[in-house]
Amino acid sequence: MISRLVLQSLSKDKLSVFLFHKVPQRCDQMVPVDVDMARFEHLLDYTFSQLRVLPLEEAVSRLHSGHLPRRAACITFDDGYPDWLTGVAPALRRRNLHATFFITSGQFDGVPLWHERILAAVRRLQGPLLDLGIPFLPAQSVASLDDRRRQVQRLEQELKYLTLNRREQILRQLEAVAGVRAADVPVMSEAQLRDLHSQGFGIGAHTALHPILDYCNAEEAVREIGGARERLQTIVGGSVNGFAYPNGRPYADFSRLHVDAVKRAGYRYAVTTHWGVADVCTSPFQIPRFTPWAEHDWHVTYQLVRNLMTEPTQVPEVAV
Ligand SMILES: [Zn+2]
Repeated sequence: MISRLVLQSLSKDKLSVFLFHKVPQRCDQMVPVDVDMARFEHLLDYTFSQLRVLPLEEAVSRLHSGHLPRRAACITFDDGYPDWLTGVAPALRRRNLHATFFITSGQFDGVPLWHERILAAVRRLQGPLLDLGIPFLPAQSVASLDDRRRQVQRLEQELKYLTLNRREQILRQLEAVAGVRAADVPVMSEAQLRDLHSQGFGIGAHTALHPILDYCNAEEAVREIGGARERLQTIVGGSVNGFAYPNGRPYADFSRLHVDAVKRAGYRYAVTTHWGVADVCTSPFQIPRFTPWAEHDWHVTYQLVRNLMTEPTQVPEVAV
């Protein structure tokens, strides 16, 4: 197959890391951009059958020791969803494919992912208008499904770049207006995390509460980075060596201070969301990732090839 030959020649000493999030059984009309299970299984059968899928920690170490096979790829998931256990995990196991799951530890203390709280609240809002009485969030319509989709996107954008305290205040206001409770949003349980881990999948940390690290004070950043590792390690009874920066864009979402904090917390590698491919010059603490979104197989291959030729942006690092 021509695409396999192209991938073979372009991928020498290069590591492609794929990023996914929630993979619902069926497409959720409120979030139509999510990859659903049928689409995900097709990607596994078509795209990943052309690649050599390795565990991420092993691949990062082989990249830097010069022993990475051609067409090397890793599969990763961010955030933490209970339906991974019945959806993506069995689909990966059926094909003997490894993946690493980067999980927010707050959910094990009863705090659901903040964007899942928005989704749950907007779904349940009554009446034609969402009005929180907040100047930078003027009242807007939630009369139609399209309106609700837009409101989910708007709230995610507006709340993403707030401090943790301010974001929590607004989430509570939204939940009060919608008449829902954060406690009703599904979260992963400790037993489910242990289950994923015992199936041989990689477990990485993705902070506790999913803040933008650049909007955290020093104390919060240490708690979010190091505290999440300790919490996950206690649950799985083993070492958690990987970290995924929330939102993950170098400079916009994290800086050299956070890369240093990740090293000091004892992690061995970290992943961003900047597109591109890692080579031997890429810091193990800023491994880029990408998500193919095309519908047709040839287009996904094109995106993969283009990604193989993309050099990632990295923030400068200082030795710890
Ligand atoms: Zn995330």
